[in-house]
Amino acid sequence: MPADVPAIPRIELAGVRKVFGDRGGDIIAVDNADLTVDDGELFAILGPSGSGKTTVLRMIAGFEQPTSGVIRLGGVDVTGVPARLRDVNTVFQEYALFPHMTVGQNVEYGLRVRGVGRAERRSRTADALDMVSLTDQASRRPAQLSGGQRQRVALARALVGRPRVLLLDEPLGALDLKLRERMQLELKAIQRELGITFVIVTHDQDEALTLCDRLAVFNDGRIEQVGRARDVYERPANRFVADFVGTSNVLDGDAAESLVGRSGPLAVRPERITVLAPGAPAEPGAHAVQATVREVIYAGPTTRVAAATAPGVTLTATVLNASASLPPDLDHGSSVTLTWSDAAVHDLSS
Ligand code: ADP
Ligand code: MG
Repeated sequence: MPADVPAIPRIELAGVRKVFGDRGGDIIAVDNADLTVDDGELFAILGPSGSGKTTVLRMIAGFEQPTSGVIRLGGVDVTGVPARLRDVNTVFQEYALFPHMTVGQNVEYGLRVRGVGRAERRSRTADALDMVSLTDQASRRPAQLSGGQRQRVALARALVGRPRVLLLDEPLGALDLKLRERMQLELKAIQRELGITFVIVTHDQDEALTLCDRLAVFNDGRIEQVGRARDVYERPANRFVADFVGTSNVLDGDAAESLVGRSGPLAVRPERITVLAPGAPAEPGAHAVQATVREVIYAGPTTRVAAATAPGVTLTATVLNASASLPPDLDHGSSVTLTWSDAAVHDLSS
C-alpha cells in the first residue's frame, strides 16, 4: 500500500444512534456518534453514568444493534453482524468467572467451545496466563484469588482468543484505588506488548487520562470531544469537558471581563494559578488579582486554595507544596495575590 493512503481504522462508527423503547417514552442512549479508533490504539470512552458508554461498547461488540448508522471493523460494514462473527472480545463490568473451574479452565473455556485442539489450547492458555502473571495460580479456583487476580483472569480469558479488538467495560471498577492504579499500568503494558486495539470504558477521568492514547468524552448520549488525552485536558472543547475532565475555573460574564479582560466563557486550570503573598509582584504581562482565602485544603503533594476575588467569584488554585512562592500560614481570611499567564486562559466555544 502506498504510504500516502490513510490506514483503515480498526473501528468506525458513522452517525450511530441507539434508541431504547420504553413505556414512558423512548430513551436516546446514543445520539449521532461519529468515531474512529485506529489499529493498535488504546482508546478510552469517558463519561458520567448513563451517558451511553456501555451501549456504544455493546454495539461495537454486536450485542446491540444501532437504530441507525453504520459500524465498520477494519473497513468492513458489520452493522447487523452477530457478536460471535466479529473479531472482537469483551471484558464485562461483571466479569463472572466459572466458580467450579480452575483459573486455567476458565481461561481455556472459550477455546474449548470453539473446538480448538488440545495442544494448541494448552499453549495458548499458558501464554495468556503468562501475560497477566497468573501462571502460578492456574490450578486455583476463583474464590481463592484476590479481586485483582480475578480481574486478571477475566483479562486472560478475553485475550486467549487473540481478538483484533478488546473491549473493556469499567474493567477496574471493583478494585480499590491502589490496586486500580497498578492494574492501569499493567493494562497499558499488556496492550503495548500485544499491539491489539483496546477500547476501555470508564467514568473516571484520571483513569482515562492515565490509560489512553486518545479518548472520547460522552455526555447524555453525545460525543462532546474526541482527542489525545493532553489535548482534551489542555483544550477542552466546551464547558462540560472542562468540568468533567479535571477541574476548571470557568468564568463568564462580568467575572470574565474583570479578571481576564475578555468575554467568556473561559477556563483556567487550578494548577495554572499561582498564589503569592498580597501585593507581591506578578510576572510582567500576567493577570493578577487580589483575593481573600476562603478555604485551604492540604493534600500531601499539593494544597488547594479557594479564594474570593469579588462577591460571588471564587477561583481555585492548586499549588505544589514544594513551591517556594506559596505564602506560609495561609488560612481562611488571608489576603493573597492570584496570578496566571494569558496562555493559561482557554476560550470555551460553547
Ligand atoms: P453508561 O454505560 O454510560 O452508564 P448506558 O449505555 O448503560 O450508560 O446507558 C445509556 C442510557 O440508555 C441510560 O439512560 C440507560 O438507562 C439506557 N439504557 C441502556 N440499556 C438499556 C436497555 N436495554 N433498555 C432501556 N434503556 C437502556
Ligand atoms: Mg456502563
